[in-house]
Amino acid sequence: MDATGACIIIGGGLAGLSAALDLAPMPVILLSKAPLGFEASSVLAQGGIAAALGPGDNAELHCADTLKAGDGLCDAEVAQAILAAAPAAIDKLLRRGVPFDRDSKGRLSLGLEAAHSRRRIVHAGGDGSGREIMRALIERARKTPSITILEGVCAHRLVVEDNAVRGVVANTQNGPALLACDRVVVATGGVGGLYQYGTNPAGSFGQGLALAARAGAVMADLEFVQFHPTALDSDAFPLKLISETVRGDGAILVDDAGRRFMANRPGAELAPRDIVARGVFAELAAGRRVFLDARQAIGAHFVERFPAIEGFCRTAGIDPATQPIPVRPAAHYHMGGVKVDLAGRTSVGGLWACGEAACTGLHGANRLASNSLLEAVVCGGFVAESVASTSPVRRRKLAFEPQTIVPDDPAPARRIMTRWVGVLRDGDGLRSAARALYALARDCEAASDAAIAGLMIAVAALNRHESRGAHARTDFPSIAAKAERAFLRLEDALRMAQSLDAELVA
Ligand SMILES: Cc1cc2nc3c(=O)[nH]c(=O)nc-3n(C[C@H](O)[C@H](O)[C@H](O)COP(=O)(O)OP(=O)(O)OC[C@H]3O[C@@H](n4cnc5c(N)ncnc54)[C@H](O)[C@@H]3O)c2cc1C
Repeated sequence: MDATGACIIIGGGLAGLSAALDLAPMPVILLSKAPLGFEASSVLAQGGIAAALGPGDNAELHCADTLKAGDGLCDAEVAQAILAAAPAAIDKLLRRGVPFDRDSKGRLSLGLEAAHSRRRIVHAGGDGSGREIMRALIERARKTPSITILEGVCAHRLVVEDNAVRGVVANTQNGPALLACDRVVVATGGVGGLYQYGTNPAGSFGQGLALAARAGAVMADLEFVQFHPTALDSDAFPLKLISETVRGDGAILVDDAGRRFMANRPGAELAPRDIVARGVFAELAAGRRVFLDARQAIGAHFVERFPAIEGFCRTAGIDPATQPIPVRPAAHYHMGGVKVDLAGRTSVGGLWACGEAACTGLHGANRLASNSLLEAVVCGGFVAESVASTSPVRRRKLAFEPQTIVPDDPAPARRIMTRWVGVLRDGDGLRSAARALYALARDCEAASDAAIAGLMIAVAALNRHESRGAHARTDFPSIAAKAERAFLRLEDALRMAQSLDAELVA
């Protein structure tokens, strides 16, 4: 298929849809491996979108909170630019039909979340923000003539010549196909699906990182994976999230003996996510179970306050009004990703990235809650502006010999990541992970995308000799005096894993 002239967007979550809508009337082909509205973290978002809209709030205060959460590693200029664009992004979503919740006077209701110094979380449908936002945008995209939506189509490889994109090889319902095109946006979401306990859809296993890395793109801050402290502990995959707002409303964390183990730590249950996640993880590692107890603080109001959470707790046989909810930490959000500038440009010509797959530098070592949907909308717009300012390049036709594409299987990588690249890490475990993922990437085609994404994360974690933000090393428990971002290319990760292998043989 010759898609020259069009821009191919890989991913139909909030980032991909925002970019596609902002690019109109420029032709866009949007690929999504799942039907729109399914298998995207965007649909699952509960809390909402952060924007400085309330009285006494402004972008500077929002930025200060973001930089604090990022633990020294945010790019302050990038953060200022994205956060300053937040109110306009909410306006745009309203114009696109998102029914944000309002108070009795018709003003947008603004919620408060941990580590935000002001009430600034705009939400929709109570705790169904992602579902409502996506419903409006999907409807809009389906009615936009310039957007061709190809569902059930999985991007497999990027074709790159002279460090410039030439096309996308995709697995379609009719087999492999080449979409020739010189402008591609990666918007494939996060990496929670690389872990056995994660809140992201199973298909979010870093395929966009593998695509871009194989094409030569530089990655940034990959070691920073945020673990949410309170996912509903069940056999489900992915795990359901019990939003921070439940703790914000007073629910407490207790162990199986009813002991409130976070009580004496600064911030208690509302300490930064990484601290609460480590607290919960330590209890589980000591063989105890952990529960979120909302009986006293919320009790009978739970169902009207958190209808979606109440629903899935009930499905798991728990009534949160009268029973403590079993919880565990789960991989939730990837601060790292494909390194991009503010316009979303990667280090490869014609390749942009936005949303969770990208690393703009907004989140640093830890994301401030509700900044990610915001980044998806704002940076989707920045990418659209940048793509629209380029012209398609006519080149000779590409030769393409279709070869069978083996369906992806992230399960083997998941076992390795869960064991060695989780909430608490150490050098021995990370070296074992890197060796195992390297062997998997080399020997198992079905697992290779997940293994490559995991390998790059493990190597980045091994290279960071400190504990900062969401990255916690038991062998380097202190924070380094100087905060430095880290960048990585796939070839460097492979070289390092190879040398670890050689060390073992010697
Ligand atoms: C349970 C949960 C709750 C959350 N709550 C909030 C919140 O309240 N506020 C907030 O700001 N953030 C929240 N987040 C984070 C936020 O939802 C995500 O960071 C954001 O939605 C990411 O959007 P995205 O478009 O980048 O990725 P996604 O929404 O994950 O979309 C990725 C898309 O890429 C497609 N895809 C992937 N690989 C391929 C491929 N190879 N080929 C074709 N298509 C592909 C997928 O099918 C999907 O359509 C939450 C996340 C989760 C999981």
